[in-house]
Amino acid sequence: MPDDLPFLTITEARGLLDRREVSAVELTRAVLDRLIDVDERVKAYVTVTDHMAMAAAMAADRRIAAGESTPLLGIPAAIKDVISTRGVRTTCSSRMLEDFVPPYDAHVIERLTAAGAVMAGKTNMDEFAMGSSTENSAFFTTHNPWALDRVPGGSSGGSAAATAAGEALFALGSDTGGSIRQPAALCGVVGVKPTYGRVSRYGLVAFASSLDQIGPFTRSVRDAAIVLNAICGLDARDATSAPVETPDFTAGLTGDLRGLRIGVPREYLPDSLEPAVRQVFLDAIEQVRSLGADVDFDLSLPSTEAALAVYYVLAPSEASANLARYDGVKYGYSYQDGASMWENMERTRQHGFGDEVKRRIMLGTYALSTGYYDAYYLKAQKVRTLIRREFDAAFEKYGAILTPVTPTPAFRIGEKANDPVAMYLSDIFTLPVNIAGLPGASVPSGFVEADGKQLPVGLQILAKPFDEATMLRVGHAYEQATEWHKRRPAL
Ligand code: GLN
Repeated sequence: MPDDLPFLTITEARGLLDRREVSAVELTRAVLDRLIDVDERVKAYVTVTDHMAMAAAMAADRRIAAGESTPLLGIPAAIKDVISTRGVRTTCSSRMLEDFVPPYDAHVIERLTAAGAVMAGKTNMDEFAMGSSTENSAFFTTHNPWALDRVPGGSSGGSAAATAAGEALFALGSDTGGSIRQPAALCGVVGVKPTYGRVSRYGLVAFASSLDQIGPFTRSVRDAAIVLNAICGLDARDATSAPVETPDFTAGLTGDLRGLRIGVPREYLPDSLEPAVRQVFLDAIEQVRSLGADVDFDLSLPSTEAALAVYYVLAPSEASANLARYDGVKYGYSYQDGASMWENMERTRQHGFGDEVKRRIMLGTYALSTGYYDAYYLKAQKVRTLIRREFDAAFEKYGAILTPVTPTPAFRIGEKANDPVAMYLSDIFTLPVNIAGLPGASVPSGFVEADGKQLPVGLQILAKPFDEATMLRVGHAYEQATEWHKRRPAL
């Protein structure tokens, strides 16, 4: 039995399981042991479901013994704590839902369960997915496995860190403005945000409904395709779930980029981009070129500069509506010692929500109020259309667009915690993708040095709506030609 079981790709683990060289119980035990070993330092998990995991692994072994071999059967996974799991506490890393146990599974959990995946536990995040560092978790901050004094990114920082640290073979996260791609880049793993509508959001606790998507963290692009195969598809319980066919996402992973035209938008190489990160990006472009793609730097997406403003009107507006449900009456935390119903409601929200969540609710309520709606919300919607149209026009010419994922590598814990705008800026390259509803991926593309440590950097790959196949093809070809994805944090 190999001694690095927790660091296998899904594809490698499948081979071992199918050849009976390792059992799902052994694989799950190895991942849980690794978790016990390192999670005190990484703090990726909010809840560890070890007993359930062992039971699921035993069930997987029975299915394997009966001759079944589906790609995720017996594979241990980590789930962001914003995704509802029946009978397992789902906190959104908020006091508001600290003791909330959902009575049903999210669509993606039903899919993973049917596929035979094994849930190791629920991962830490910024409260209600609002943030870029997991520092907004009401419970604790997750640490970057590559440098424990640094953030893993966010909001899905726990899922990214768990995947990077060998505490799961893959993970699920959610991405509203970058929360899969940004932490994936900062932790050196693959992260994919599918096209808006590709994955049902039934059972995903809502943040900003016109932007939210669920997607995977993995150690290879092929693994991401495998997880997408399992979780994508129409679901009548989510009205925005798209009636499109799910192709086999592994089919186009040829390693060849000949004939593909790729654009690099100049707005994604601003002066604020750290020089070392810029160099990593330019090296990646050269690599992609050498694989046969025709890369063109003569692309401009001028509305990009408005994306941050558009996002911070639209996302808080939608959040203010979505979070109105936490009133202490229906479920979640409830303050009951007030003199009136109104006082109870007020105190419930005062105590239950953290500062960033309150900031968003106030911003959103303001933007939607009479007299301001036209000036902010409606205006933001119009600019949103412009951003989408610019991408549409670019994709008439290019099969894919490449950009950096983040302007800097992982920053120090505390460095941006008191400066919301500095924190918001860490998503400038990822937000436009949600605004336009496109698929986006982050793949490991190199390292930069800071404080004597090697910090991972990611390459962002974009494609037109529902063309994940091209995005994955580029990511896979690049990955096959490089070694970045094979490095592991020393911990
Ligand atoms: N960092 C962004 C925010 O705080 C994006 C978060 C996300 O994608 N969930 O809104």
